[in-house]
Amino acid sequence: MASAAPKFAIERNAQPVPVADRAKLLADPGFGRVFTDHMAVVRYSDAKGWHDAKITARKPLSLDPAAAVLHYAQEIFEGLKAYRLADGGMAMFRPDANARRFRASAERLAMPQISEETFLESIRQLVQIDRDWFPTVEGGSLYIRPFMFASEVFLGVKPSSEYLYLVIISPVGGYFKSGAPAVSLWISQNYTRAAPGGTGAAKCGGNYASSLVAQAEATKHGCDQVVFLDAAEHKWVEELGGMNVFFVFNDGSLQTPPLSGTILPGITRESLMTLARAEGLTVREEPYSIDQWRSDAQSGRLTEAFACGTAAVVTPIGSVKSPDGAFTIGAGGPGQTTLRIKQKLVDIQRGVGADPYGWVSRIG
Ligand SMILES: *Cc1c(COP(=O)(O)O)cnc(C)c1O
Repeated sequence: MASAAPKFAIERNAQPVPVADRAKLLADPGFGRVFTDHMAVVRYSDAKGWHDAKITARKPLSLDPAAAVLHYAQEIFEGLKAYRLADGGMAMFRPDANARRFRASAERLAMPQISEETFLESIRQLVQIDRDWFPTVEGGSLYIRPFMFASEVFLGVKPSSEYLYLVIISPVGGYFKSGAPAVSLWISQNYTRAAPGGTGAAKCGGNYASSLVAQAEATKHGCDQVVFLDAAEHKWVEELGGMNVFFVFNDGSLQTPPLSGTILPGITRESLMTLARAEGLTVREEPYSIDQWRSDAQSGRLTEAFACGTAAVVTPIGSVKSPDGAFTIGAGGPGQTTLRIKQKLVDIQRGVGADPYGWVSRIG
């Protein structure tokens, strides 16, 4: 790409979290509650384009009550992790894919696109300055959250003329509190996540806002996550609120719903398909109905199912519940193929396994 990354001005936080307090936080960070000392900020206006790139102290933002994002939800985000490598260094997994997806999401939400170089540079600079925030807990990582929102002070309905792009970092342990070996799913029959022509393939906050009531329904029925069906027929499995889904069959093949425009194109999803195919497994991107899922689980044709995404990595699905009844997948715990493919991915991410695809991007 032609454009060079801008130079980020570095303004160090004059009052960082004291070392002893930080150590306490990093021993058990949980997910998304602990944050580092700095953030990256780049401003955009129609008049000046992208400007004022800096790394600065993490602090609350001051927003006008008429800022467009507060009214019309023009907002997108990304999520990626920095991992500790076996040799003690740090690396990100396929950050260029996140940069491209962020641009695609911006296009769908009528927002300006930030260059891949600026996106990657903002993250590298921020991880560098906050590298001492790497969690000490086993399996920990730095969860990196780039996001962008409409900041123009105007109540008219139109694409904003001003935006803020920011990056924050949360040191994290595991995503699921319970650390359960397999999660339970609730099939939402009252709500859908995305419709044809909608924003299902964009990573925008609005998709999540509309999924919360369905997730609450899942929780009420004692399930960990909600699984969404397609909006037109209420028949085809699409994905979970924030994770893609895979099915494993007794002939060793895998299947995942196709990217039809209503599913978020997960980078974990795509990586797992590549790894499975490299192992010689058949991977189909084909629609799978909820009725087929139930009957295959009951007949034993389906042996495993798992959810995947950056935050949850690869998470076995143990059981599925709906008003029509419940069914168990395999023995209700993690399956062999699920565990093997997860290990393969994690080994690459941690610099333990070979990286034939050039997915690992070392920082510093
Ligand atoms: C982010 C996200 C995923 C997973 O994408 P990854 O790139 O694998 O992290 C899946 N579904 C939804 C709705 C998402 O927002």
